[in-house]
Amino acid sequence: MAVPKKKTSKSRKGMRRAHDHVAKPTVIYCECGEPTVPHRVCASCGVYKGKQMIAVDNGE
Ligand SMILES: [Zn+2]
Repeated sequence: MAVPKKKTSKSRKGMRRAHDHVAKPTVIYCECGEPTVPHRVCASCGVYKGKQMIAVDNGE
């Protein structure tokens, strides 16, 4: 079995794991009041940059 030649220091381990966390998605609030992700069409009203991009039926 392959065995590491040197012990991985706490510092090295920490550097390797620096990118292991899952990024929290940024939440912004649309003009319609719904929370949404920036630079994406709002899922509840279909508006992006003040324009209606997709047709959404709002449960009428
Ligand atoms: Zn919206």
